[in-house]
Amino acid sequence: MNTTHYPDTRLLIANEWSDALSGKTIDVLNPATGKVIGKVAHAGITDLDRALAAAQRGFDAWRKVPANERATTMRRAAALVRERAADIARILTLEEGKPFAEARVEVLAGADIIEWFADEGRRVYGRIVPSRNLAAQQLVLKEPLGPVAAFTPWNFPVNQIVRKLGAALASGCSFLVKAPEETPASPAALLQAFVDAGVPPGTVGLVFGDPGEISSYLIPHPVIRKVTFTGSTPVGKQLAALSGAHMKRATMELGGHAPVIVAADADVALAVRASGGAKFRNAGQVCISPTRFLVHNSIRDEFAREMVNYAESLKVGDGLIEGTTLGPLANARRMSAMAGVLEDARATGATVATGGERIGTDGNFFAPTVLTNVSLEANVFNSEPFGPIVAIRGFDKLDEAIAEANRLPYGLAGFAFTQSIRNVQLLSHEMEVGMLFINQPATPTPEMPFGGVKDSGYGSEGGPEAMEAYLVTKAVSVMTA
Ligand code: NAD
Repeated sequence: MNTTHYPDTRLLIANEWSDALSGKTIDVLNPATGKVIGKVAHAGITDLDRALAAAQRGFDAWRKVPANERATTMRRAAALVRERAADIARILTLEEGKPFAEARVEVLAGADIIEWFADEGRRVYGRIVPSRNLAAQQLVLKEPLGPVAAFTPWNFPVNQIVRKLGAALASGCSFLVKAPEETPASPAALLQAFVDAGVPPGTVGLVFGDPGEISSYLIPHPVIRKVTFTGSTPVGKQLAALSGAHMKRATMELGGHAPVIVAADADVALAVRASGGAKFRNAGQVCISPTRFLVHNSIRDEFAREMVNYAESLKVGDGLIEGTTLGPLANARRMSAMAGVLEDARATGATVATGGERIGTDGNFFAPTVLTNVSLEANVFNSEPFGPIVAIRGFDKLDEAIAEANRLPYGLAGFAFTQSIRNVQLLSHEMEVGMLFINQPATPTPEMPFGGVKDSGYGSEGGPEAMEAYLVTKAVSVMTA
């Protein structure tokens, strides 16, 4: 495998790759070295106008392709993604940092998601409603909404796109995405698979540039009929407000701060293995990452000890080096965020049981960290850390743990470990989250809904609900006599 080659990324407009009209570019860095590895085109308004015109043409063509043919094309794209998985994963690791094995899983899961939506698109049924007049017929049609503007983040450069793209294309919409400037080449490789699979020009488009400039131009634009964003809650609220002002339907997949409740009767070894695996995946830069560990006081010390062992068993390094299980953080912003979280945790009385500092001077390596005795006032227990930090507090009664889990305005994922059916019942009903994982790590699949409640956003990116987001309902009443 050629481990160093990294392609520059251009804009994808009407199935052709082009530079920005201005020739402007942005540097892309490798987070494992901090060095520039390539560049990505920086679109201006003229480029966006071209992309929008192409998205309209793409929609006009794609919506007329029968659903089963759309499914065939999407399945062809998924097959190409599978075939190219190793190369796409290598690029993804170079630009984002996650270990190659994780990157490969992300790409293959992407192919799986495309295939699932391809098939779901064949089952978008309308209905016939019995009429009050026998001479009349009442039809309910489900139609594609129109060209979609998507905004996706750097933590899962392929999968954050694919959940939106899969549902949009399966519904018959065209799809213009502003992908992350920090991780542009793996999204480009993903979209290339759709071009090679034969989607009509403009069905998919890819732009990069100034995120604020692009969203404030695309969202109000009359061509765009649907907005979908994944990223932080503050940005999501801005984009949701802009979408509302222009009456655009929107899906918002925003930040979380996932509680992990470990009940007194939990299997501690399972809880550590499952929540530790979920915690340190992609160095904790995951919206559904476990972040607030609430452990029953009778097992708290044992749990903390085992979690320290887990953290210390991880092999931190460049994601392309065989055996690495924890890569660098994706960008320098995360390094300063981690330093801030640690300073605040120490100042508010937490014990650093392991880790707590950067490793080396090159690249963004931060030691897997376990904090105990964390105060409720500590920043790490209130704002999403988005990094490799386990923060542990004890509790005495399950009701108290549930109240603490629900205290924050976030409600994306939640985790719990217990062997009691009664506890499972209680947790299932009382936890204010969009996704609850009990006695297991996070295992999102395309067939299950994926989304949050409260400040974590609205809409779903999995299951049949994800298709609804890209469809409009039309009522047709026909007098036949
Ligand atoms: P950020 O809020 O600046 O950016 C998050 C993403 O939103 C980036 O991809 C960025 O390009 C995009 N973005 C920012 N402003 C935008 C705008 N006006 N219009 C359109 N897109 C815009 O923060 P960041 O430093 O990149 O990440 C920090 C925080 O973001 C993390 O701590 C985490 O809470 C959150 N985040 C969440 C996810 C997720 O999966 N939900 C992914 C990445 C980041």
